[in-house]
Amino acid sequence: MTRALVPGSFDPVTTGHLDIIGRAASMFDSVVVAVARNSSKAPLFSLEERVEMLQAVCNPWPKVTISSFHGLLVEYAVEQQASVIVRGLRAVSDFEYELQMALMNRRLNSAVETVFLMTGAEYSYLSSSIVKEIARLGGSVEGLVPNIVGQRLREKVSKP
Ligand code: ADP
Repeated sequence: MTRALVPGSFDPVTTGHLDIIGRAASMFDSVVVAVARNSSKAPLFSLEERVEMLQAVCNPWPKVTISSFHGLLVEYAVEQQASVIVRGLRAVSDFEYELQMALMNRRLNSAVETVFLMTGAEYSYLSSSIVKEIARLGGSVEGLVPNIVGQRLREKVSKP
């Protein structure tokens, strides 16, 4: 039984995230999506909102559960009995930061392996930040995020 953690901010979850989560679910026995509580970025959606949206959109995958964590990711992996951390890679610009994190996590606990999934070509330009920017400027986010997330985004940005 191999359990994988898919950590991130998910502020909010995009179709690019879902591609990674779905592919992780086809590779591992179970997948725990771990929403970071202590992100240095000031989130648009609260932790509860991010978890709730993920729960709604990951509902079709019985292998996938949603949780949140604070503190060290490798400690959370041990707590969840996960031996693998899955991260997505989009462009070369993701690489340096991801390599640093993966090496530091290995130093902290060499029993937890980080694996990288290459983004689907159609998601390579997609990030939560660009989606939030488009929504703030009144553009359409259709296809970039699941429909329920698009709706939540519109509500969020229309509030004064
Ligand atoms: P973090 O703040 O930890 O980078 P994110 O929510 O931005 O969290 O991303 C979570 C994970 O999903 C990361 O591994 C990131 O590389 C991956 N990811 C985000 N967007 C995409 C995408 N469009 N294609 C593939 N992977 C992605």
